[in-house]
Amino acid sequence: MELECEKYKDKVDSENAVCRHPDDYCQFRQGCIIRFMEKERKGQQKAKASSLSGNSAKPQ
Ligand code: SF4
Repeated sequence: MELECEKYKDKVDSENAVCRHPDDYCQFRQGCIIRFMEKERKGQQKAKASSLSGNSAKPQ
């Protein structure tokens, strides 16, 4: 699925959603689906990397 940046009208693939202007002021950022999906994907990658390296949350 293709997503569109509300501010710059960039076309972004939902499988690899990423904001191309992360340092610019954007009035749409709080409700932006591209930013949301980017954060979700990074969170999943981090969790996966953590579980592969054995750093997942373990009781102490
Ligand atoms: S947060 Fe990024 S992708 Fe979303 S509307 Fe703003 S500039 Fe576009």
